[in-house]
Amino acid sequence: MERVYNFSAGPSMMPESVLETARDEMLSYAGSGMSVMEMSHRSKEYEAIIAKTEEDMRVLMGIPENYKVLFLQGGASTQFAMVPLNLMKTGKADYVVTGSFAKKAAEEAKKYGKVTVVASSADQNFSYIPKMTSDMFSEDADYIHTTTNNTIYGTTIRNFPQTKATLVTDMSSCILSEPVDVSRYGLIYAGAQKNIGPAGLTVVIIREDLLGNAMDITPTMLNYEIHAKNGSMYNTPPAYSIYICGLIMKWLISIGGVEEIERRNKEKAALLYDYLDQSKLFRATVPAKEDRSMMNVTFVTGDADLDAKFVAAAKEQGLVSIKGHRSVGGMRASIYNAMPIEGVKKLVSVMEQFEKDHK
Ligand SMILES: *Cc1c(COP(=O)(O)O)cnc(C)c1O
Repeated sequence: MERVYNFSAGPSMMPESVLETARDEMLSYAGSGMSVMEMSHRSKEYEAIIAKTEEDMRVLMGIPENYKVLFLQGGASTQFAMVPLNLMKTGKADYVVTGSFAKKAAEEAKKYGKVTVVASSADQNFSYIPKMTSDMFSEDADYIHTTTNNTIYGTTIRNFPQTKATLVTDMSSCILSEPVDVSRYGLIYAGAQKNIGPAGLTVVIIREDLLGNAMDITPTMLNYEIHAKNGSMYNTPPAYSIYICGLIMKWLISIGGVEEIERRNKEKAALLYDYLDQSKLFRATVPAKEDRSMMNVTFVTGDADLDAKFVAAAKEQGLVSIKGHRSVGGMRASIYNAMPIEGVKKLVSVMEQFEKDHK
């Protein structure tokens, strides 16, 4: 069975060893005689799976004791509503709008309170990170919402100023790709399907003092406190996705943790950007180097027909899902944790050949 290099923005590539373990344990998990898919989420076996997944994630990310880790459903998009419903105490929040997910988050929050868009890069199709300083943010906002990595546009917020209000961030497309100081944030959320598992699971890391302030209108299932009190088992959790997430945590630990994955991710991204910056055919769509994403590399030729030709040529070589999002066009190579460097090397060599052929 020939596997391809899958550059999809999400759901995306998984480490092959994780898929192999899942296959080996498909019919009988650890002598239980059943698949994890068939297992009661209240069983001893399953309780051990979810506990170990959380423990490994805590170790990998260095999550402090006073934070809860929640395994939820509904995707990152459900967090766009959960965050304001649970954290808006006075009804005011600051939003940084650096992409369409950030914009959706801000729009959703407007249903529940006063949203101030403090900074935005919409004026240049989100191709940069706006300059931000502490004094731009209101000290009495219930929280400040940012999107750390902008999946569609290939940008990342690297230097966020010190602020007084609680920081909330969407890390869907960069969680566990590099070390993060969790204590800087009140809440971190991520849909699993980019870097940490299959779709259907959303991870929320929340500081305990932020629990218990949900608005009265908050549906039970959208209340962080309910999920925290019930160890993410108020109802049936996305049990199989959590199990796969657990396998990915084990894989990360086995290769040397977040420091090692960061080293690999930097190396992969540098290969691509270095090639793009000297190419006469392709160019990166994010001009400022410090704003460029290490996870999603967006690039174009400047000619839509040639872009389409390249996407087809790449596919021929086993490099798939490299077409850019329709709002940017061109190409997007998502090179999440599970993408091996060989995939990126092959991509660069296919680009070099394409460039030679289209002088
Ligand atoms: C993919 C993505 C989302 C949407 O995630 P869903 O799980 O599909 O709701 C939100 N934010 C970012 C940064 C993303 O990359």
